[in-house]
Amino acid sequence: MRLRFVCIVLAALAAAPSRAQETSPPPGGCHYELALADAEARSLDVALACAGDGPHALSTYRFVTDSHVRQLRAAGGSVLEKTEEARLLKGAGGIARATYRFDVDEMAASTNSPSIGQRVGGSVVASVRSFLLVPDGGQRPMPLTLRFKAPAGAAVLTGLAAQGDVQRLDTTDFRYIGFMAMGRIEVLRIPVAGRNGAGTLTIAVLDEKRALANAEISRWIEASAARIGAYFGGFPADHALIVLQPMPGLRYLRRGMVAGGGGATMLLRIGAETRPEDLFGQWMLMHELVHFAAPFIDNHAWLMEGMAVYTETRLRVAAGWFPQDQAWRGFLRNFRNGVPAMEQQGLARSRGIGPVYWGGTLFMLLADAEIIEKSGGRKSLADCFKAVLDQGGDTAQRWPVERFIAVCDAATGYGTMRRLADAHVWKGTRLDLAALWAKLGVQLTEYEAGVNYDDAAPLAWVRKKIMSGPN
Ligand SMILES: [Zn+2]
Repeated sequence: MRLRFVCIVLAALAAAPSRAQETSPPPGGCHYELALADAEARSLDVALACAGDGPHALSTYRFVTDSHVRQLRAAGGSVLEKTEEARLLKGAGGIARATYRFDVDEMAASTNSPSIGQRVGGSVVASVRSFLLVPDGGQRPMPLTLRFKAPAGAAVLTGLAAQGDVQRLDTTDFRYIGFMAMGRIEVLRIPVAGRNGAGTLTIAVLDEKRALANAEISRWIEASAARIGAYFGGFPADHALIVLQPMPGLRYLRRGMVAGGGGATMLLRIGAETRPEDLFGQWMLMHELVHFAAPFIDNHAWLMEGMAVYTETRLRVAAGWFPQDQAWRGFLRNFRNGVPAMEQQGLARSRGIGPVYWGGTLFMLLADAEIIEKSGGRKSLADCFKAVLDQGGDTAQRWPVERFIAVCDAATGYGTMRRLADAHVWKGTRLDLAALWAKLGVQLTEYEAGVNYDDAAPLAWVRKKIMSGPN
């Protein structure tokens, strides 16, 4: 597919207050007009309209960003009553309206956290919920619609679903952040073959100098997204946002975070000195993209992280971006950090890198090996993950772990996840890994410097399928 580079679409800053008066809230919810007051996103001018005369007790989510609200005024015949504890907005004629200015700069300076708000040059990375005054702080389920406007030279990007220029969010998503970027950002758009048809992966590059050219960034992300799409039966989000933050003075990639509050979003911190040859071998982007393909499962980080580490490793090997020997060596050396939790208290009761990342990854390897073996190679863990996505289980959703296990096992047909979960998630059961490696025909060499393969081992064919896999 060809890349399209779209450098910041300029939207005229229309007369927000007068248009806001005409905008109706969704039934039982609120509508917001949010206009960047300047191209560097130092403040936002907001007009809100909520259904019902109320009174509505307005606050930000958990009051976290309340102190940055300025000039709150009732509008359109509504009345505002401010007390020490609350801002009560009473509507007129079935709709309550107000306007306020949000001091983005002050919030970013006081929190300096991307999950609330952080300034990077002339741009800001933040969570959408940070700017919204909502009845009861959004504690009640309520639909919200939002329309952003930006002056010339600036843009606002979120991962929210949109109809035209109106974006949708629900207060039940407030518990989970969703990244957004605004101000002087560069925008790259990468077409992806989504599970439901053509989609777009939008990259918002924050305002910081970097060594990588836009074309190099796009080539890397497009190739990675294509591998993810091939494995999951289509890219797992029709539209997704990646906020790219170059970190001054660094060469290697620093950190990735996925947030699914209202849509698939990711913050990816790369080095400002990162070069093209550093990109494909590293794990971070593929790991975070795998997170786009599963629902958030409270209290079961081992499942989400195990799925991400296991899948990104095998996909990078299959793509030829990561040596197979290094992948197996890493697995065999690191799994021992997950074994105690799987043999004793269980993965659900364990915290830390060892149980969550390596216990989770070993769990996925055990599941994949069993499904491949029992199906004679016709099925694999990919069928489980695709079935979860078929049921709508992407990163914007929250599922109980039981649903994930049931959907997965129904697709593969061997009860593999149920049996492994019963043995290793809520309690521990002894594992005989030496026997497993012998059957798969893979062993660490002396001093663990490398790995030896035994192609005469009974399940050597399963081992080969694991790393070469469906793609
Ligand atoms: Zn992760």
